[in-house]
Amino acid sequence: MSGYVAMNVRDPNPPGFGAPGDQGPVLLHELGHVMGLGHVDRPGAIMEPSGGGVTDFGPGDLEGLRRVGREAGCVVAPPAPAGLAAPRPAG
Ligand SMILES: [Zn+2]
Repeated sequence: MSGYVAMNVRDPNPPGFGAPGDQGPVLLHELGHVMGLGHVDRPGAIMEPSGGGVTDFGPGDLEGLRRVGREAGCVVAPPAPAGLAAPRPAG
C-alpha cells in the first residue's frame, strides 16, 4: 500500500466536515483509497463512489480500515514524491 493525496487550494467545495461533499469528507474518502480501500456500492459508506451522502466513515468503512490496518501488519512508508518535503522528526 502506498500513495498520497494532493489538495487543490482552489477546490470549490466548502471547507470542513459539515455536509457530504465538503472538503473534509472528500479527504476522508481519498485517504481511504490511500489506505487500500476500494469503492463499495453501499449508501452510508464514505467509500461509495460519490461519498455515500455521509460526512464520516461508516461501520463498513471502519471494518475495511481494520482489515487493511492492524490485521495486515506494519507497512513501510514510501518516500515522499519528488518536490515534496519529507516530515521532520519532532524535537
Ligand atoms: Zn473514490
